[in-house]
Amino acid sequence: MQTIDKFDFSGQKVFVRVDFNVPLDEKFNITDDTRIRAAIPTLKKILSDGGSIIIGSHLGRPKGIDAKYSLKHILPRISELLGVEVSFADDCLGDEAFEKSAALQGGQVLLLENLRFYAAEEGKPRGLKDDASDEEIAAAKKAEKANQKEMAKRLASFATVYVNDAFGTAHRAHASTAIIADYFDANHKLFGYLMQNEIDAVEKVLKNTARPFTAIMGGSKVSSKIDIIENLLTKVDNLIIAGGMTYTFTKALGGNIGKSICEDDKLDLALSLIQKAKDNNVNLVLAVDAKIADNFSNDANTQFVPVNAIPEGWEGLDIGPETEKKFAEVIENSKTILWNGPTGVFEFDNFAGGSKAVGKAIVTATGKGAFSLVGGGDSVACVNKFGIADKMSYVSTGGGALLEFIEGKELPGIKAIRG
Ligand code: AMP
Repeated sequence: MQTIDKFDFSGQKVFVRVDFNVPLDEKFNITDDTRIRAAIPTLKKILSDGGSIIIGSHLGRPKGIDAKYSLKHILPRISELLGVEVSFADDCLGDEAFEKSAALQGGQVLLLENLRFYAAEEGKPRGLKDDASDEEIAAAKKAEKANQKEMAKRLASFATVYVNDAFGTAHRAHASTAIIADYFDANHKLFGYLMQNEIDAVEKVLKNTARPFTAIMGGSKVSSKIDIIENLLTKVDNLIIAGGMTYTFTKALGGNIGKSICEDDKLDLALSLIQKAKDNNVNLVLAVDAKIADNFSNDANTQFVPVNAIPEGWEGLDIGPETEKKFAEVIENSKTILWNGPTGVFEFDNFAGGSKAVGKAIVTATGKGAFSLVGGGDSVACVNKFGIADKMSYVSTGGGALLEFIEGKELPGIKAIRG
């Protein structure tokens, strides 16, 4: 397999799939350009070798051509960050895109319009009537899959090399993230730096694991984390359960949780996960105390109580000090750490303390040589809020993609390149 470090892009025309799906305000100003910055090293490497670049990305979830989701909004920022005037094609597949791609000289960059303006990118039919028959639905799906192949082939025809640097969409088998790779031989398709770094970080955690390995799973619901927890139970030494999930486990064990968030239909599942942890010799670490509130607000009245003795009318919104200590001890003695999800409602400053304590313990462990990977939505927001992102070994840019990778699934965007 080719690697970006060793590849010489001089004279090559490179289609780079990035994830520039950045948040925009109502005036189309970018409110967080992290995703653009993340792909800059790859783009700069190609340019410094003397290659030219065709950038493909999606933005938002358009249902068709829609100016609101035009990538034109972010063109100036890309030019600024790259230090090169980037040109634009108003459509990603038409003659203009083809001709502008063909005319690119070494060192030049073209941004294509939003790939998701076409249903073929995702390969799923749009606008099916509510009363469509099963046959009509099946025919529409088949047609869109065929369109997807055509789209991938067309995009591939613009370039001599394919680079995938869109980790955020690596779990999708879309035209530009996976299918397109079929139209390049093994020597002309590769991962960008971001994609490679993400893969290396996850593999360091799941495959080449230094022990003890501790995973901290927080967030609101067990239901959204079952597959990950099950996969981790075959890999970790310690599994810390935090956040809203705590109360489903506590109730399953017979505790009183007041009006804390709880999935009553997942009580048996919680018990089976506890049993599985025992069977696998995994140290399952649950909260012992909670910071409770009399309503869901930053200004609620609060108290600390044992996690299984929450009074009626109160709810647990964060872990308590005993739990902070218990979690920190496990974390600080770990050599590999994975953090997904806050320990409480960290968006409210008064309930961010537990997440902050977990973050601090990870910083300490990382300082002592542990490898720490933080990822999956809110934990990234957490480390950013606490100003400790640069003290983690790796902060993932992938939400769903990272979670599916940790669940042990094969990601289409990765398979397409490395087989
Ligand atoms: P997730 O997207 O599943 O990682 O969940 C993250 C969300 O879980 C954050 O918005 C937190 O505010 C929320 N959360 C964490 N702990 C609790 C809790 N004890 N009660 C309600 N929501 C919580």
